Amino acid sequence: MSLESQPTTHLFSVDVEEHFQVSSFEQHVPQASWDTQPSRVAHNVDVLLDLLARHGAFGTFFTLGWVGAKYPEIVRRVAGAGHEVASHGWWHTRVTNTTPERFREDVRSSKRLLEDLCGHPVIGYRAPSFSIVPGREWALDILIEEGYRYDSSLFPIHRSGYGYPHAPPVPHVLRRPSGALYEIPPATTVVAGVRIPAAGGGYLRQFPFGLIRRAFRENGALAIPAMFYIHPWEVDPGQPRIKVPWLTRIRHYRGLSRSLPKMERLLAEFRFTSVAKRFARFADPEIANAWPFARA
Ligand SMILES: [Zn+2]
Repeated sequence: MSLESQPTTHLFSVDVEEHFQVSSFEQHVPQASWDTQPSRVAHNVDVLLDLLARHGAFGTFFTLGWVGAKYPEIVRRVAGAGHEVASHGWWHTRVTNTTPERFREDVRSSKRLLEDLCGHPVIGYRAPSFSIVPGREWALDILIEEGYRYDSSLFPIHRSGYGYPHAPPVPHVLRRPSGALYEIPPATTVVAGVRIPAAGGGYLRQFPFGLIRRAFRENGALAIPAMFYIHPWEVDPGQPRIKVPWLTRIRHYRGLSRSLPKMERLLAEFRFTSVAKRFARFADPEIANAWPFARA
């Protein structure tokens, strides 16, 4: 299918973190050792920047404050290439493992640092491992109070570890005691009556490409932008292997060499841009009623 027959522009996102900072490695690579681990993130972000540039696409880079503080040039390169910088928190602490007070500090400090580096307002947030789950909605109120305008943490699926099963699977407005927040969930599709993830990440590496493409085609046919995500380490087959339990090892390391070829296909077939560019005209919560997808 050509680009011309798919006029809907979808959303491309990157969770900017090191290969050793993933939630499933928390017990094996303590924060105290992060500074001594081999760094891969700068090179891998460059691979993604090159990929996007070749396809004339833009993306939103949900970046860890830790990464921005240690490698400020990464944030500057991302912003300099016209992409959006957003927050992935500072310490990659899951919302299920923190307190409201610590969460507020995490999203406040990362926002402030990233804004200093990128030169534009940081208005978007994605929780590590999509960890705003039922019962943790206080995080959404804190995001509103701290000046965020949208969130991309509610994964509308049933899954152990994360998921917000009853959230609408399309961009929508969340009305909270603190105000309004746009929610832009990762892409999903329905197979045999079950909603399954099809947004990228491990699903891109381990699911057939046709399933991922189907989610973007279905949404595109309804003129709904679907959200793709990837991590820099997922385009790095040469990353050092860390000793972790076998299931974690399979989930993290399998299919790494398949990511880039699949992303080439996806970017050749569909248009992608950043949240900020896609929704610039809806950026004011006061006009949230104008949000075009809330009823979808
Ligand atoms: Zn992450």
